[in-house]
Amino acid sequence: MAKTIFITGASSGIGKATAKFFQQKGWNVIATMRNPENETELTQLENVTLLPLDVTSFEQIKSTVAKAISLGTIDVVLNNAGYGTVGALEGTTDNEIEQIVSTNLLGVIRLTKEFIPHFRENKSGVFITISSIGGLVAYPFFSLYHATKWAIEGWTESLAFELNQLGILIKTIQPGGTKTDFVGRSLVIPEHPSYGELFDGFKKMFFSDEVISSLAPAETVSEVIYEAATDGKNQLRYLVSGIVQTTYARRLEIGSEEFHKELDNAFFGK
Ligand code: NDP
Repeated sequence: MAKTIFITGASSGIGKATAKFFQQKGWNVIATMRNPENETELTQLENVTLLPLDVTSFEQIKSTVAKAISLGTIDVVLNNAGYGTVGALEGTTDNEIEQIVSTNLLGVIRLTKEFIPHFRENKSGVFITISSIGGLVAYPFFSLYHATKWAIEGWTESLAFELNQLGILIKTIQPGGTKTDFVGRSLVIPEHPSYGELFDGFKKMFFSDEVISSLAPAETVSEVIYEAATDGKNQLRYLVSGIVQTTYARRLEIGSEEFHKELDNAFFGK
């Protein structure tokens, strides 16, 4: 029987590409998004069901998960919905802080908790969360994003102990720069005059034409998600690309203090 994946944030980028990828592999896909009424592409595909889900709404998490389970067994839950806030912390509003934590962290925790009884009863299931290379290393001006993605890494590693006992797997995926709406409409950029020059220097490097043009297609992440969903391995992390692997390997090799100094020097010439 065809398996079923439940995906959050399937309206664009990695979420949408992964919905299409699994559908092509013969899976049933429950593609959730904030505004399913605006979706025109996934609605054309067989075995794809659209459901509404804003992951910051606990009420909607409960009702959408109940609806999804009523449709049949869910085999894989993909926590994908998320975005970046990039800028000096001093320039952020409290609402911006709350929104990114509610989306990237609380949304993942609440959705996962809601699905655990279903997986426990089935004695199987795979939770996959899209973390980031930003869950393993830290860049300038990404402090809020790192707060959420580093939290996901520690949360996953701990939760694996209790879930594995029940026959449930839990994993994270670490993409590097990927061509999606992440650096476009989804990115929140708080500005603060005191950091103008420093932030401009950072933006020139991080969002240079060279960097933007070298971003990987979203499907490269979908392939790794598919591997994590189907390999049956009790493996915590899946580093998506060569650059992610070498970056993380460098941190492990020279240690966090030296790695931080190296980045400081690369970004700000110190
Ligand atoms: P996109 O901006 O293309 O997609 C983000 C998705 O998240 C959209 O579908 C958006 O929905 C959804 N979303 C945002 N807030 C909510 C919410 N409150 N409830 C439900 N859905 C929400 O970016 P990506 O595809 O790149 O991002 C997907 C994941 O990949 C994120 O977790 C991101 O952190 C991670 N990632 C991305 C990288 C990259 O370089 N692109 C690198 C590493 C990790 P809507 O259409 O309604 O805005």
